[in-house]
Amino acid sequence: MSNTVKAILDLKGRNVVTAGANTTAGEAAKVLSSRKIGAVVIVGMEGRIAGIFTERDLVNAVAKFGKDCLDQPVVSLMTSRVFRCHEDTTVNELMELMTSRRFRHLPVETNGKLVGIVSIGDVVKTRIAEVERETEEIKAYIAG
Ligand code: AMP
Repeated sequence: MSNTVKAILDLKGRNVVTAGANTTAGEAAKVLSSRKIGAVVIVGMEGRIAGIFTERDLVNAVAKFGKDCLDQPVVSLMTSRVFRCHEDTTVNELMELMTSRRFRHLPVETNGKLVGIVSIGDVVKTRIAEVERETEEIKAYIAG
């Protein structure tokens, strides 16, 4: 059976790096760089998800507006229609969503509250562990 988001969060933790909508792109870039992450979740009232700003959005903004974009608030550069997943979402479902929608980050929500984030790196790590476990099980079965 495929692992779930819950299993990933139990291992990596539930901390999510967030920022407010008025954060500038330059400030967000510093957060992405210092925290060594690819995405920051933009939150509004009561910590609700308002958008997501990733390194891809930064590259697109620089290409479109030049360095002046660094002073723009992320609200004008982020993606507002954010796809989310839940703790019971499976790793197979994550792979399907990330591949078909072409993004590498999925915030995790429980009852409308942000409770974690999974990245494509987490998915690959979990999938490798699954494949290794399946291989060991098959070897043990053959041996007997
Ligand atoms: P990424 O591959 O995660 O760097 O993101 C590629 C593009 O998809 C960027 O424009 C992001 O803002 C957007 N994006 C990333 N994650 C999500 C998500 N969960 N829902 C909607 N858009 C997203």
